[in-house]
Amino acid sequence: MYESLSHNDNGDVKLARRLIELLGRPRAGLVTDIDGTISPIAARPEDAIVLPGARRALAGLRDHLSLVAVVTGRSVEDARRMVDVDGLTYFGNHGLEIYSHGRAEIVPEARPWVPRITATVNGVIEQLDPELKSSVIVENKGATASIHYRLTPDPDRARLHLLDVLARCEPTSGIRVEEGRRVMNLLPPLLINKGSAVRWMVKEHALDRVAYVGDDITDAHAFRALDMLRESGNIETLNIGVLGPESAPSVRQLCDVSVPSVNAVAELLRRVLEGLEASDRMDSRAPSIGSD
Ligand SMILES: [Mg+2]
Repeated sequence: MYESLSHNDNGDVKLARRLIELLGRPRAGLVTDIDGTISPIAARPEDAIVLPGARRALAGLRDHLSLVAVVTGRSVEDARRMVDVDGLTYFGNHGLEIYSHGRAEIVPEARPWVPRITATVNGVIEQLDPELKSSVIVENKGATASIHYRLTPDPDRARLHLLDVLARCEPTSGIRVEEGRRVMNLLPPLLINKGSAVRWMVKEHALDRVAYVGDDITDAHAFRALDMLRESGNIETLNIGVLGPESAPSVRQLCDVSVPSVNAVAELLRRVLEGLEASDRMDSRAPSIGSD
């Protein structure tokens, strides 16, 4: 499935053309993750910013596509603050939270898990090695939580310690742990993830074509969901992985094509917007058949 395009200008142009061809037809949607995809990974999650070029491209693409959506592990409010483009569909908390009718809503199935996530987070903080307390960042996002250990002096050692702490908390709470790039995500044991969010959007917006851009294990759920939709013959899809030294095997295996960096994603989106604008201009100049 995976196709390696050389990361030179020629390869980038080829990928942009492929994406323009996919998205330049009716009922097309573009879905993107935030961190590591349109926003460089920052040591502290609150310091991360979306690249201005990516933001401009998403705002422009919104006027050409049936759907432009953001799906992230962050809370919906945080996602909206970071991306700051109106008119997009926002899913937060790995698909467990959606921005709808002017406010953030946690899906009903996840609501009973909110206090249990808090209890698990408190348990982790209590049992954390005192030496790691200043460098481990624990984010309670309501429906999910994230424990970031990128800033610890020895991240591999910190990871083992956190897994040990979670093994002591986890069995009593039922919370699921999913690892990402120097982060452990605590999730309710529900079959709701970025994959189910993407399936919902395809149905809700009657999409025939979807491109998804993501960099981490949680994005692999979306890649897998789109693969299954494609295999069922219903839609055309393109899974774009942002690959680097930290990429998980599942992301490498499930993406159809790859780009090497967040900057490359912003450049790709810019080229796609330019291409769609150019074909719109050509369409508007074409003489209409039957006119005098
Ligand atoms: Mg990411």
